[in-house]
Amino acid sequence: MRYCIYSDVHANLEALLALLADVQDEADLHFIFLGDAVGYGPNPNECIDLIRAHAEVFLIGNHDQAAISAVNIENFNPYARKAILWTREVLTVENKEFLASLPFKYVDDDMTLVHATPYQPKEWHYIFTLSDALLNFGFFTSPLCFIGHSHNPVSIVRRQESDVLVVNSDEVFIEAGEKYLINVGSLGQPRDGISTSCYVVLDLDARVIQFRRVWYDIKATQKKMLAVSMPEYLIRRLQFGR
Ligand code: ZN
Repeated sequence: MRYCIYSDVHANLEALLALLADVQDEADLHFIFLGDAVGYGPNPNECIDLIRAHAEVFLIGNHDQAAISAVNIENFNPYARKAILWTREVLTVENKEFLASLPFKYVDDDMTLVHATPYQPKEWHYIFTLSDALLNFGFFTSPLCFIGHSHNPVSIVRRQESDVLVVNSDEVFIEAGEKYLINVGSLGQPRDGISTSCYVVLDLDARVIQFRRVWYDIKATQKKMLAVSMPEYLIRRLQFGR
């Protein structure tokens, strides 16, 4: 089985279309989306519809939750808050209901999927350090766990109890007996200093996880954001991948 796993589209339709074009010749792919379909970008409804049309797993993210008014957004920065208030206005009733129906977590024998962290997935914690990662390895039993949320792609492997390390490679080989915590990065608003969209392809038969980057039309997205009066900071950050 081969999976295309991506996260944090953030209403960036150009990035989503670029992903689908990039994998169009790989008919065997199963799609998994780890949450944050909306927030920041100019096309929330279009992105929800398109993700929904192909993704077999669709999780809720913190911006999705904020966009359906289920949480207070005092802890969001002023730019994110402005984007969420705009998103609340434009989301269709159907899409709000759809977002409200989404799960926080998916688990099968091969993988655990959450937007933020396997430890308390509804609390939207971040994994910044290896000790954060070590804690989280205690909260999933499958060999693989895929997350998003920080917009920073990273692979962390646990060789044995308390032996946790970062793997710096675009290709991660899955070894028997080891556990992997994989942040797939962000499709619609990368923050690792690279402006191209980031996603992952998991091949369970070849036992390999591949990180991929795909170019999208950043200027087109920025133009649309400007047209709906998104904060300039959010518009500019796309071109720097920050
Ligand atoms: Zn996000």
